[in-house]
Amino acid sequence: MKKTLFLLFLATACITTMAQDTSWKKEYRETVPRINDLVHTKLDVKFDYENSYLNGKAWITLKPHFYKTDSLTLDAKGMGIHKVAMMNGAAMKDLKYEYDGWLLRINLGKNYKGGESYTIYIDYTAKPNEVKVKGSAAISDAKGLYFINPKGEEKDKPTQIWTQGETEASSVWFPTIDKPNQRTTQEIYMTVPAKYVTLSNGKLMTQKKNADGTRTDYWKMDLPHAPYLFFMGVGDFSIIKDSYKGKEVSYYVDKEYASVARKIFGNTPEMIAFFSKITGVDYPWVKYAQITGHDYVSGAMENTTATLHSDAAQQTARELVDGNFWESTIAHELFHQWFGDYVTTESWSNITLNESFANYSEVLWAEYKYGKDAGDDQNYGDMQGYLFSNSGKKDLVRFYYNDKEDVFDAVSYNKGGRILHMLRNYIGDSAFFKALNVYLATNKFKAAEAHQLRLAFEEVTGKDLNWYWNQWYFGAGHPSLDINYSYDNATKKARVIVKQTQAGDKVFKLPVAVDVYNGANKIRYTVWAKSKIDTFDFNTDRKPDLINFDGDKILLATKKENKTLDEYIHQYKYAGTYLDRREAIEAAAEQQDDPKAVELLNSALKDKYSGLRNLAMGSLNMSDDKVKAVVEKNIFDIAKNDSKPVVRAAAISYLNSYNNPENKDIFIKAINDSSYSVSGNALIALSEVDVPAAIAEMKELSKEPAKGVLANALKEVEALIDPDKSFDEMTTEYEALPLSQEKFQMTGTYTKLIGYIDNTGKVKSGVDLIVKFRDAIPAAFRSQTDPFINKALRDVMTKKLRSIQAGGNKEEITKQIEYIKSKLPEAERKGF
Ligand SMILES: [Zn+2]
Repeated sequence: MKKTLFLLFLATACITTMAQDTSWKKEYRETVPRINDLVHTKLDVKFDYENSYLNGKAWITLKPHFYKTDSLTLDAKGMGIHKVAMMNGAAMKDLKYEYDGWLLRINLGKNYKGGESYTIYIDYTAKPNEVKVKGSAAISDAKGLYFINPKGEEKDKPTQIWTQGETEASSVWFPTIDKPNQRTTQEIYMTVPAKYVTLSNGKLMTQKKNADGTRTDYWKMDLPHAPYLFFMGVGDFSIIKDSYKGKEVSYYVDKEYASVARKIFGNTPEMIAFFSKITGVDYPWVKYAQITGHDYVSGAMENTTATLHSDAAQQTARELVDGNFWESTIAHELFHQWFGDYVTTESWSNITLNESFANYSEVLWAEYKYGKDAGDDQNYGDMQGYLFSNSGKKDLVRFYYNDKEDVFDAVSYNKGGRILHMLRNYIGDSAFFKALNVYLATNKFKAAEAHQLRLAFEEVTGKDLNWYWNQWYFGAGHPSLDINYSYDNATKKARVIVKQTQAGDKVFKLPVAVDVYNGANKIRYTVWAKSKIDTFDFNTDRKPDLINFDGDKILLATKKENKTLDEYIHQYKYAGTYLDRREAIEAAAEQQDDPKAVELLNSALKDKYSGLRNLAMGSLNMSDDKVKAVVEKNIFDIAKNDSKPVVRAAAISYLNSYNNPENKDIFIKAINDSSYSVSGNALIALSEVDVPAAIAEMKELSKEPAKGVLANALKEVEALIDPDKSFDEMTTEYEALPLSQEKFQMTGTYTKLIGYIDNTGKVKSGVDLIVKFRDAIPAAFRSQTDPFINKALRDVMTKKLRSIQAGGNKEEITKQIEYIKSKLPEAERKGF
């Protein structure tokens, strides 16, 4: 499963306000005992769109796991149970049962021996919208079965049905043992209005038209999988078909996205081939379908052979010009088909066995398809996601949690992925991928816990890896390193002192590469940091140009280093990984008074990796005329010629810092670019030099549908027709929004509008609202959100300064600038 940023934001916002019941901290979450095992599940379901009900018949084959038993408990949430019987050939014998709305306790009538199979028949009605957790309110986020616009009352929204099982919500729509350590083969007969298509796990065997205008589709899954991976989708979809080694690969999208489905999902066959190759396990299932669902409650879900994506995956051809932002999610869910579906976590405590691999597959795919920089960029982003999540106290394998949903977090995903990345570096690529193969082959069609992963790695490498698992899987936190470099001329020794400064007693054991550079020459040493303070000496005839601790830049750690600017310049040039260059750019960004730092940033504007070109551009202090002069030629060149639209778009935003009459021509030309970000940024840039021209362009562009950056830009420029009226309207709207991703997204537009308001009282009240929002964001997010909001406020000040230059009311505008300045941290006030 993959959650969206929006959900993560909300989740964290909720946690901070939750009541402090901590009794869960003492409750060890053991793996659920297996008394009866699922063997086969056969369902016959019909949908009641009027009531959002499912009328179902279930034939469930089970067998006692080992010990004999005369009873069976099934999860069956919020259902109406009409009949429970034992099958005996075609005959049925009614069984006694108790049902409390949550668990169905069945008396089997006699003892069954371990391994002796039996089949239960249940006639039931699933009522997903009425499910209640024992006496509390109806639940909204674990309905299992979702009817979207079932009566067609919502305009512009299709009628759909989709299911979401993880964690234990499949048992809302069929009775089962809803635990990840169960597996069952499956058959589903789905009767639906004939105008719709269906999707489920496995293979579509037959389709039969019925006299009442419905059709019954029969889906069959011959290989066993866990109940939470069951899926049904029903709706008016276009199905676009690809293939992999003769197996069907298909994409179910809304009709209007049929022509772009391959642009969004078309790399899937190549991904399947790549993941098959690196795992040494050819794609194990009969087909692979991906479907998009409206109002989906998560980001995406890896149902076996039938992944469900949020409709956010559906992007238009123009949106895709800026890049397919959903591609990493496509990789994530696909890799789950091996890690999660083929081998499954035995308990939610071990969820990282599913999620760390899915998360890390995003790095593996980016590295394979787009090069090492792209892989490293993904890895870095995910590491930051963990470091900012403020979850240093949570174990990766989590036996204590409040709610099972809590383990779907930046530790199980992001940290888990980074731990795999370090392990790969430590034992080498061939051992790493061989170990994945051994783990999959040994545990296929079974549930596993973290020790099984360790055993596979130990088998392949011949190394005892308990230390690694104890430190990273069964422990919490990450190292904070303080790294000091020095050189002693007398002894000709270079020295590295590494202090572990994280709070608490835990000391990490870290195998680390240290590279000693003289010119382009590099000598690599491998050392082990394993104490609170470690000192490493290296013989070298002269002071090295650079000593690079963590030479492969793989450590999951926060680092503080005493490198000089010259050393960083050397690092940018010669060390050369994505993170080496990134660190150098970040160091130079802090020292823009030094011409050498500006020179580094200027050359980074031409970095071979677009993400770093963007980073360098975003770091420039454009309020410094010396900086502006140095980078001018490159900014112009990038705005016109960069191969990546998003980089071109960023450069266009910077052009306005220069009073160059050529600008306007570039903007007007760029406004018609196929990229939404180029077009949108150009429109905004034009509005800053010529409002009437921008309004005219906006009116022209508004004739076509727009999304993303351009859609926002159109709104922004439209607001300039009557800034005061727009400001008043937006103030009401902004003030009413709760703390949310939506409010964050609106902040940029709202702040910008303040730049066009003359009335000082209004300016102040608008700034107050923004600052109030900025300061209310949970601490864990502020290092990500503050820079954005503070920059927007600085942009207003720049705009105001220009108004003075253009003959505006100097006295009033100065008051406004001073007011905004007072709301910024000291470092952000520079240049005003
Ligand atoms: Zn996932």
